[in-house]
Amino acid sequence: MKNNRMLVCLLVLVFTLMALLPGMTSEVFAESMPTPPSLFASGDVGDPHLFMQWSFPPDGWNTEWEVSLSTDMMNTALCGEVTNPENETSVDFARPELYSSPPGTDLANQTVYVGVRFIHATEWGVHTDWSNLYEVILDQDSNIEKVTPYGTSPPTSECPSSDSPDGKHEWETKVIKEPTCTETGLKSTSCKYCKKQGPEEEIPALGHKWERKVKKMPTSTEPGVSVLVCGRCGLEKDDSEAPIETEIQEWTKGTKSPATFDSDTPSDDFSHVKVDDEIVDESNYDVKDEEGSTTISFNPEFLETLPVGSHIVEIVSKTGSSSIYLLVIKEPDIEETQPSDDLPKTGESSGHYPWLALMFFFAGGLILLERKKFMSKQRD
Ligand SMILES: [Zn+2]
Ligand SMILES: [Zn+2]
Repeated sequence: MKNNRMLVCLLVLVFTLMALLPGMTSEVFAESMPTPPSLFASGDVGDPHLFMQWSFPPDGWNTEWEVSLSTDMMNTALCGEVTNPENETSVDFARPELYSSPPGTDLANQTVYVGVRFIHATEWGVHTDWSNLYEVILDQDSNIEKVTPYGTSPPTSECPSSDSPDGKHEWETKVIKEPTCTETGLKSTSCKYCKKQGPEEEIPALGHKWERKVKKMPTSTEPGVSVLVCGRCGLEKDDSEAPIETEIQEWTKGTKSPATFDSDTPSDDFSHVKVDDEIVDESNYDVKDEEGSTTISFNPEFLETLPVGSHIVEIVSKTGSSSIYLLVIKEPDIEETQPSDDLPKTGESSGHYPWLALMFFFAGGLILLERKKFMSKQRD
């Protein structure tokens, strides 16, 4: 995990440098370059965690976040990539080793700058500008002392309240209106002691969180229909209906066998598999070519992670895709066989101890026997 992130950071760095050279591929994307994300960051004073939330990347783009020691975002302290469809993360400043930090990074007593940008999902080094930055002041334990949007920090002038220990304002952020999928939220800052109001700020809209859902179940004779639905507000995405093959696959939790899916396209054309519109990591399935058609077998370990209920498996190839309905069934309840009701129990596993004791007793006996044999042999 750590190595992967490190690699991503290195590659991003290398390709960023390459993109700076004239005539590079990034010019191709100049016209379709999305606007940089808008970022909202907050954290509790005395805690090392910073929560970040940003506008969703457009299709085909991911988000990269970075913690820099300088406002030009060139002095990377921590960084990470967030793939679709997430638009939020939480960073622990006290554990830089988790976030591809250069060796020896210690953020104690540092002031850092946090920003996000959209990076192209397949073209390395193609990215938007950074979002609005946040300035985060950290104390000697890398805990947060203060989080403010960089450049819009309220004045740290004298606080009239006698409660203020150093005679200065201490600014707190409060969410006035939570953002929704389509509407921005609002937050305000005010002084903890004298209640003076700082500037109000928008929180970016969350964007829809599309998940592929079954709209019409397939039968053995008729295809079904799937559609993209927002997991947050329930909106159906326009023109997102797609047919589901007539075949129905079932898989029961606890089963140790894989679930297999066939697609008519040859495996040379195979690209990737999605479950409920999320791309599945290659390590979770095998691909086989059987007489010009592609067969995908999901590992039981991966299938166990899917919630009970309807899912849509989409096999995507260069020439198109086919969707198959998968029903994950709950593991049947196993009858309790031990008559444990009338025995008082101290814990769940207490029943095992007598057995363990018995096993040790036998093992001890065997060792003694062996020793006796060994000793008598020596005496001979
Ligand atoms: Zn004040
Ligand atoms: Zn929505």
